[in-house]
Amino acid sequence: MLIKNGLIIHSIGECQEDIRITGEQFTEVKPNLTPEKDEVVLDAKGKWIFPGIIDPHTHMGIPIKNQLSADNFDTGTRSALNGGVTTIIDFTVLENNQSLKESIIIRNNLAEESHCDYGLHCNFTRFTQDLLDEIPSIINEGIISFKVFTTYKDAGMMLTYGEIEEVAKKISSENGLLMVHAEDDDEILIASKHIPEEEFSNPYSHGLSRPDTSEEKAILEMIKIAHKTKCSVYVVHLNSAKGFRAARSSDKIMIETCPHYLLLNDMVYKRKDGNMFVASPPLRKTDDAEILWRAISNNQIHTIGTDHCPFCINQKQTGIPFNQILNGMGGVETLFPILIAQWIKRDLPKPLLTKLVSTQPANIFGLQSKGEIKSGKDADLVIVSPNDLTDNWQDRLVSVTDWNGYLDFPALFPDHVILRGIPVVKKGKLQSLPKGKFIPGNI
Ligand SMILES: [Zn+2]
Repeated sequence: MLIKNGLIIHSIGECQEDIRITGEQFTEVKPNLTPEKDEVVLDAKGKWIFPGIIDPHTHMGIPIKNQLSADNFDTGTRSALNGGVTTIIDFTVLENNQSLKESIIIRNNLAEESHCDYGLHCNFTRFTQDLLDEIPSIINEGIISFKVFTTYKDAGMMLTYGEIEEVAKKISSENGLLMVHAEDDDEILIASKHIPEEEFSNPYSHGLSRPDTSEEKAILEMIKIAHKTKCSVYVVHLNSAKGFRAARSSDKIMIETCPHYLLLNDMVYKRKDGNMFVASPPLRKTDDAEILWRAISNNQIHTIGTDHCPFCINQKQTGIPFNQILNGMGGVETLFPILIAQWIKRDLPKPLLTKLVSTQPANIFGLQSKGEIKSGKDADLVIVSPNDLTDNWQDRLVSVTDWNGYLDFPALFPDHVILRGIPVVKKGKLQSLPKGKFIPGNI
């Protein structure tokens, strides 16, 4: 296949080049390529071509409070591809008494339903010597990132800072990567005590119960750990100005933020469907979002992931205590369409978007075949026509969920999406989908 006349948005700049795909890979990327006999030619004149989008943070079909999040690997990756995401990195779930290895086997079996390519992060939500000892072999198998939580003590998922330091030491000695959900549990406990009982069924209380100081405190603790152990630390879903200032005080910290922290704020909790926006960490103030946008344009954010974990309307009950509402929002399908629209609105350089949602996640998580339109890499790409920017895009969604938090924003959905040489979206229509492949992380 030959794609001609498009503007390629590389992470380092834009370039008018043609793209040749042979089998599953890019084989030539240069100007003025001549079609070979029998080659399919796609004219991309006036269009922008991005490398396949990588969402480094999804939770397909995970158990929360005896329910499952609404997307499994089948439905979630279908909608991912529709929005241009050709690779996701999902998280294992470590149940009681499981080894890390067992948790990976189980997650990998579920992920076989995936239509886009996928990698895995390993949740480290219990502290034992046996689990620590497994880290080297897990890294050898291509799972190089381990996630710890500084909160969710009640759910049995929290590690103390002392325990996290031990995990960091081990990971560091194997050149792996430590990911952290950074919200200090004690800060949350104290703030929660100040919420009067009559405000319990108000979703706005969710935000008050998890203050930005909890993010700041947890990140400062993580910086100490990073410096002591020399471990690389990746803070997931950074959301507050306080958290950002803490994180940027150290060069050991990599920062991921999410579309919901850039676009939404805590006023949505006062809406009729306020309960639907309950996710942890909570949405913040518009000032926090603006600090994050500024950080993006100053190259101080490393990736944008979605923390995709949607629930349907009937799953997120109203009128129940805020701390009983299932936590999570969807986002994988709109990640790219919503962001590219914001990029246009804010006149940000498009290569910066490529960097944040493709090249950098591939580099950080060692997905060597991904993240760039370059000869030898997997032929994953997204073609958009800037003229397709619209406020009315709801009918473009293929998600099985019945609620979307971004309908008030413009979006630019892809015209074409290609996964390892296979067209999965053609002229804006989802095609019959292939089977995704596990992509191991390489250090
Ligand atoms: Zn998450």
